[in-house]
Amino acid sequence: MIYHIILIGVLLLLIINNLKLRNRVNYYKTEAEKMYQRAIRDGMTGVYNYEYLVSKLRKNNTPYSLLMLDIDNFKEINDQYGHQVGDMVIKDIANKAESVIRKTDLVARYGGDEFIIALFNCSAKEAKVVGEKLHNKISQASLSIFDEEINFAVSIGCYTLDENSIKTEDALRRVDTALYQAKEKGKDCIVNY
Ligand code: GH3
Ligand code: MG
Repeated sequence: MIYHIILIGVLLLLIINNLKLRNRVNYYKTEAEKMYQRAIRDGMTGVYNYEYLVSKLRKNNTPYSLLMLDIDNFKEINDQYGHQVGDMVIKDIANKAESVIRKTDLVARYGGDEFIIALFNCSAKEAKVVGEKLHNKISQASLSIFDEEINFAVSIGCYTLDENSIKTEDALRRVDTALYQAKEKGKDCIVNY
């Protein structure tokens, strides 16, 4: 009888230890996932960071298009309304960019007031449609912040990979060139590379 009681006690202890161990493993898994998400995302907007975008493009072997976006005259928004409002404008653009893409695409903050959007398996024609949709969404709406109606516009560069042999860095350079041309053209527009 006493042996049975000891055996049941030992079994119960083993089960409890096993449950504790599982809880601890789950806790570390969740913490590791949180740390990973923090490492690949931009802290302010929650979209991906530039390093993550570049690593995804390097690993990718399907055709893709890139959109590069920069807020027009953003310094004036900061100067007129303050940096806090400027931050809200940046977050608003990130949300709008995420709202026009598919689940398989990704938005990354390049830094400052610039974003890059990767559209996978997306032709030049389709990329232009996404770019125009985003451009209209931003330019045609005003943002209500602290009782102020703020209007802002963006310039967008667009580049679609025409050859599979194009290096990621070259694709990024080309979309940057297209964005530069959009600024040169007078801003508030989209230019295709
Ligand atoms: P352009 O039309 O040529 O793009 O002119 P711009 O005034 O937008 O100038 P530019 O893009 O060169 O400068 C971006 C400014 O964004 C510079 C910097 O002070 C500001 N900035 C960068 N990061 C942040 C941020 O996280 N929050 C805020 N509020 N401002 C930022
Ligand atoms: Mg700008």
